[in-house]
Amino acid sequence: MSPTNQHGEIKKIVIIGGGPAGTTCATHAARLGAEVTLIEKDIIGGAAHLLDCVPSKAMIASAGAMSIMDRAAEMGLAKVDVELDFEALRKRITDIEQRMESSVTDLLMSQKVQIIEGFGRLVDNTHVEVVSEKGKEILEADYIVLATGSRARVPDWAPVDGARVLTTRQAYPPKELPEHLLVIGSGVTGVEFVHMFNSFGSKVSLLVSRQQVLPNKDPEVADVLEQSFIDRGVGLLMGARASAISVEGDKVVVQCEDGRVVEGSHCLLAIGSVPNSEKLGLENTDVKVNYGYVEVDHNCVSSVKNIYASGDLSGKLPLSSVASMQGKKIAEHIMGRHVGPHRHIDYDKAASAIFTDPEIADVGIAEADAFAEGRKIRVTKVPFSVSAKALINNDPRGFVKVISDPATGVIVGGSIVGRHAAELISILALAVTANLTVHDLVESLFVHPALAEALGEAAE
Ligand SMILES: Cc1cc2nc3c(=O)[nH]c(=O)nc-3n(C[C@H](O)[C@H](O)[C@H](O)COP(=O)(O)OP(=O)(O)OC[C@H]3O[C@@H](n4cnc5c(N)ncnc54)[C@H](O)[C@@H]3O)c2cc1C
Repeated sequence: MSPTNQHGEIKKIVIIGGGPAGTTCATHAARLGAEVTLIEKDIIGGAAHLLDCVPSKAMIASAGAMSIMDRAAEMGLAKVDVELDFEALRKRITDIEQRMESSVTDLLMSQKVQIIEGFGRLVDNTHVEVVSEKGKEILEADYIVLATGSRARVPDWAPVDGARVLTTRQAYPPKELPEHLLVIGSGVTGVEFVHMFNSFGSKVSLLVSRQQVLPNKDPEVADVLEQSFIDRGVGLLMGARASAISVEGDKVVVQCEDGRVVEGSHCLLAIGSVPNSEKLGLENTDVKVNYGYVEVDHNCVSSVKNIYASGDLSGKLPLSSVASMQGKKIAEHIMGRHVGPHRHIDYDKAASAIFTDPEIADVGIAEADAFAEGRKIRVTKVPFSVSAKALINNDPRGFVKVISDPATGVIVGGSIVGRHAAELISILALAVTANLTVHDLVESLFVHPALAEALGEAAE
């Protein structure tokens, strides 16, 4: 594809949604020479910056600081009592959000992306209607990129009121510390909120619908987190599938399918998300949709060749990092300029992390999946208890697991449980993407003492 349209004019791209998918696509396409208009109804940076990744991780960082202070005596320090300051926490989160928004907006403006504050909707395969304070306008586009994200799933049995029954987006900054928080959903989001509120001092009970927290993760990894929750006094209700919630005065009562009844002061729903697609005007186009997600091919092209979908709306991995990469690849595809050697995203190689204590991170093929597929793998593992740096940090929990191809030594996956796992996994992610071998890891001269040394040892 060339950088101009069939009339020899600069390609016009209209993007709906200013989250990581939309903003990355916009800056990248503008850099490659397109004329780009970005429509955002709320905040540049998207739900990722305002509602999801950034505020939740900011709260977790504060919660983590509290847990470290709680263990001060173990580090040879006098014990200090730390209290949660809601006002200061709220200000901290708002400051981070504002800084993120202005840095992304500055980047977009430096690339001459036109930003329209308004609600975008498809009129047909080449036109978008924007409703803003200035009224209605219709934009014509050579290409349209849909990047409207997703929102929390709220089933009809959950009377969400933002006060006692909350979605994750209503939980920060908290107005008050829940006395006893019931968290429904033990996936990534649920366990992060358990960690956050438990560290702040709330009593927390987790309703786990199956027999393992993090049901889609390696059981060995889930075990470490379960044990840490038990040690910290989190109530784990295994096999508890919620089916009704009621608010009775200052109590929230959750009914489970098996007849169990659980009571708390607040309840948080963390049971997945639904795509923001119903008001997008998709019915005016030939775009195919599956359960609200836009169907796309490996280039993120929908069933209409000039309409792309990215981020959570595309129904691939719901991760900010994946959304940004999709945005970048879409820009390259539209402009016909593939910058790196990897034309398409290999979703199986996406690293992901869970910001609990200890942190959990993984990349590539999982051990259980390899066995299920009958694929031959070599699994090597080293516990952090043998790492000098982990002992220095007073945190020897967890392990590093490296999964490789026994014939070639190529690293195909791995998981890390422990402090800074979300940072350390990048080494394995790079190895998986670049087809590095266990020998490359073993022969790397890592810093000593450093947690990364465990990766080299695990690859032996
Ligand atoms: C609690 C929580 C924590 C998370 N933590 C992480 C994490 O640590 N790491 C990670 O990688 N991922 C995390 N995620 C997932 C991550 O937030 C999403 O995958 C990411 O935000 C998706 O980006 P996106 O660009 O598709 O959509 P979004 O970030 O949702 O942005 C979409 C934007 O489109 C706008 N919009 C919607 N409809 C319209 C319209 N019609 N017109 C104009 N604008 C519109 C919205 O206002 C929004 O700004 C988390 C999710 C949750 C719920």
